[in-house]
Amino acid sequence: MQFKEIVGQAGIKQRLLNSVTENRVSHAQLFLGPEGSGSLALAVAYAQYLSCEDKQPDDSCGVCSSCRKYNKLMHPDLHFSYPFFAKHKDDTALTFIEQWREAFLGNPYMNLDTWRGYLDAENKQANINIAECHQIIKKLSFKPFESAYKILILWLPEYLDKEGNALLKIIEEPQPNTLFILVAQNQDQILNTILSRTQLVKVPCLHSQEVKQYLIAEHNQTEDAASEIAYLTNGNLTEALTMLQLDTKSYHELFVQWLRLCFSNKGLEVLSFVDSFAKMGRENQKNFLRYGISFIRECCLLMAGAGNLVHLPAKELETAQKMTNVLDLSKAQYISTELEKAHYHVERNANPKILFLDVSLQIIKILNLKTIPAGSQYIPN
Ligand SMILES: [Zn+2]
Repeated sequence: MQFKEIVGQAGIKQRLLNSVTENRVSHAQLFLGPEGSGSLALAVAYAQYLSCEDKQPDDSCGVCSSCRKYNKLMHPDLHFSYPFFAKHKDDTALTFIEQWREAFLGNPYMNLDTWRGYLDAENKQANINIAECHQIIKKLSFKPFESAYKILILWLPEYLDKEGNALLKIIEEPQPNTLFILVAQNQDQILNTILSRTQLVKVPCLHSQEVKQYLIAEHNQTEDAASEIAYLTNGNLTEALTMLQLDTKSYHELFVQWLRLCFSNKGLEVLSFVDSFAKMGRENQKNFLRYGISFIRECCLLMAGAGNLVHLPAKELETAQKMTNVLDLSKAQYISTELEKAHYHVERNANPKILFLDVSLQIIKILNLKTIPAGSQYIPN
């Protein structure tokens, strides 16, 4: 993995490069970034750079013997640790290294759900067990074989139980030329004892614009489709890549059509709409609802006179402006609450037909009868 393969994050890349050229590489670092920011990819690119035999000013060379091994994640001085589902008490991350290489090389932006898909996991709890902690200590007690550094990348230290304390000594006083790179998403779920012993590298969320450009350049998306996905996923590239695989029928048209039907209270057409929702699949339903929530939020901004904060593509902005004729702030708020509740229930496997019919009826009530879904109370204007 080279820096140039990673989307955005120019500031972090420069900071990491500087730490090497200025010879101040800390032996224990915590890359902390939200899902889809690329923090794991950055950790691997950084490790590759440190080991590269022909470092360029802004990246590893990509072709030396070390880089070639890194490209396959098969360098003898590169180690990984990550949550897994132990079938036997002696299972360690090494048991699943083949799956790990396949998963990361397939998608360096993977999340725990993606990783779970590579393991025969069922509903078991992922963690980094004590056997793995002992394995880490053992691996790091050897000198590097080929490179200047021996590097361990530990993905999601949030899943280290109290057993993680077994690692404290080795994090604090590692062997010479040994580096520990932790890659985490939630600072408050990491053992404090570990947190206090690492240097923090904060990886920010990507800008929607960067995600959009990437989708256009690397995934042949049209300007409109890329804008919509980038907007919906709010800079989370992991989620954007997942959405690419879904049915890309425009959520915007679908959502506006649905609201129109509810507004004109056309029962039969609403019913056939509900049928088509039910066939969409759960991920698609969730994305659709999330789109609806975001769109209503933008309408609220328009109504509140904060049009300068609205960042919808031109066509959608036009519809949003029309929509403000039939909506007011309180109606919008109630619709949004209904959509959020529906999202919650989709996640919990509610029957989609019953659910979407119910939401439609509630929206009809809100738009036409001006009553709050609970029933009797009028929506104040
Ligand atoms: Zn190289």
